[in-house]
Amino acid sequence: MKSRWSNADATAAIARWGPTVGDDLALRAYTSRLLGAEDGLVLHGGGNTSVKGSFVNRLGDHLDAMWVKASGQDLATIEPAGFAGVDLAYLRRLRALPALDDEAMANEMRAHLLDARGGTPSLETLVHAFLPEKYVDHTHADAVLTLTNQVGGERIVRDALGDDVIALPYVRPGFPLARAVADAYEAHPGSRGMVWMRHGLMTWGPDARAAYETTLEIVTRAEDFVRRRRGKAPAAPRALAKTVLARVRAVAPVLRGALATPSGDADRPHRRTVVVPLVTPEALAFVNGARGRELAHTPPLTSDHLIRTKALPLWIEPKAWDDPAALAAEIREAVRRYATEYEKYLGRHAGRAPAGVAKLDALPRVVLMPGLGALCAGPDLRAAIVARDITAHALAVKADIAAIGTYEGLPESELFDMEYHTFQHAKARRRDDVLTGEVAMVTGAAGAIGSGICRTLLEHGALVAAADLRGKPLDDLVAELAAGFGPRVIGVPIDVTSEAAVGEAFGTVAATWGGVDLVVVNAGVAHVAGLAELELDAFQRLARVNVEGALLTIAAAARHMRLQGTGGDIVLVSTKNVFAPGAKFGAYSATKAAAHQLARIASLELAEHDVRVNMVAPDAVFGDGARRSGLWAEVGPDRMRARGLDEAGLEDYYRNRNLLKARVTAEHVGRAVLFFATRQTPTTGATIPVDGGLPDATPR
Ligand SMILES: [Zn+2]
Repeated sequence: MKSRWSNADATAAIARWGPTVGDDLALRAYTSRLLGAEDGLVLHGGGNTSVKGSFVNRLGDHLDAMWVKASGQDLATIEPAGFAGVDLAYLRRLRALPALDDEAMANEMRAHLLDARGGTPSLETLVHAFLPEKYVDHTHADAVLTLTNQVGGERIVRDALGDDVIALPYVRPGFPLARAVADAYEAHPGSRGMVWMRHGLMTWGPDARAAYETTLEIVTRAEDFVRRRRGKAPAAPRALAKTVLARVRAVAPVLRGALATPSGDADRPHRRTVVVPLVTPEALAFVNGARGRELAHTPPLTSDHLIRTKALPLWIEPKAWDDPAALAAEIREAVRRYATEYEKYLGRHAGRAPAGVAKLDALPRVVLMPGLGALCAGPDLRAAIVARDITAHALAVKADIAAIGTYEGLPESELFDMEYHTFQHAKARRRDDVLTGEVAMVTGAAGAIGSGICRTLLEHGALVAAADLRGKPLDDLVAELAAGFGPRVIGVPIDVTSEAAVGEAFGTVAATWGGVDLVVVNAGVAHVAGLAELELDAFQRLARVNVEGALLTIAAAARHMRLQGTGGDIVLVSTKNVFAPGAKFGAYSATKAAAHQLARIASLELAEHDVRVNMVAPDAVFGDGARRSGLWAEVGPDRMRARGLDEAGLEDYYRNRNLLKARVTAEHVGRAVLFFATRQTPTTGATIPVDGGLPDATPR
């Protein structure tokens, strides 16, 4: 592992942060980010770092102080403000206590913050406080865990890392670990670092660079040792077979359905999860390997992130890849068996559960399948990604250990205590937007209305697959939305007139997030011509997109939602013209009326599956700026000519003809979709007009 230290970057960090927080903390933030940049050292908020110094309070007193990573901060992106300053002199005195439980320890740390606005100091704060070293770095390096999680691990650590690295037997994180680390440090003067069995590595130094580069040096020794022992790892095949991807598409929705938990709300009975695949050559080699099953059932590498992954994965070896119904039954049965086992595990340790910590659901977070790889689940996208990345590293480390020794993890009682640790639960507390964990697909996404719907759904927490014809408008939309919503939006190319393309789009979303809960059928085209002049070709083109496209999308959504088994919502973007058609607008009005009728029929057919189908009927949405409405580009010129108006005049004309004198926007349409998507009322087969009030077009 190579040092990423750069004098220029260090100087830049001092220039950026030094004037406000001092050079020591500026460099602390800088090397913390270097550690965070290496996923072989820490993953997703793991690890912690500190620096000691002095603090002048408002009365002018000089205090011994320490700045330590605040809980919930990620080393990869941390800034000086992400460190909590604490009264070091006081915290050091805690070492004399015979015991201190986590709750009390957290209270002591918060009570001795130097700034009441600071974050909560890390659970490992006292470990940092009890060491006299100025800079202290703690990571969960893969290569170190490869040494520590073996039978005979302490001897292996000494063989691999030498005499200047202390090997500390496993001690529970919190006060007991802090005391054990300080004792071991004092018993081994001159040591350069300390390995904590089945946990990770701690290094220190008089300056930021020394502590950081000692971490890298020790990790490199561990890597070299593993490489020497293991020899050349067999190369995994690079190309993934098509069948593997087809399996992910088939399994993910069924699994996602089986992992939903009851919400207790009759209108929205399921709390859904996000399922992301880990389908890499390495993961496949692991699950397909002769010892895959046995290794998968060993305890996790560390107790960190247990709440994201649970202690054990679910292992499914399907007998029926080619029979979808039998495969689905096997998956559901396997999830039920896991839940039964998990309840038994809770039962075995019920007496040790801390008061006030809620029981987790009994469902797996990681599912391993030979012939597929892994599927990882969480209540939101971030949690699922954390589970996936931890799994990727865990599989790699376990495979290395299997090649050079015998895996040994933590005992079950220790895992239970850490899974039901108050700190862990505080970390995982879910940020609940109204659509968190829900997946939406919006067709015609790149248009004025479609983009407004995507934005509204994203603003309320949904994952959004923006589907439209392949090309620049879709790419631009996704780039624009991703700037605000990150990985919660993807672009999915779709031609709604092609049954294969529609199926492909659903497959893509299932292979990205596990499935789809909300389908907004919005793709549509318009054409202006009187019936006497209307060419059959033009009519048929509209029928293909507006009718056949709607049919194919609704049908695919229905099949998908039945497979998932957790209901769903379909919202068709209809039009005021269905109720009040306009002259020269026959092809559009008639084809949209057909689509509208299909949606109503879908509401009859799908209610038994808890799939609700509703319509929104906008009028005169012109769009804004770069995203003007395609429909109005088609219709506008004719209407302007007919009424002798310019573009602004036409917008005014439409505004003035509705009762509320309202300018109707894509955002309004998005809110109507949101009303249905959030199931505010027990309603299906209904239409919300979004038109400012047009009495002739009011559905009745
Ligand atoms: Zn740790």
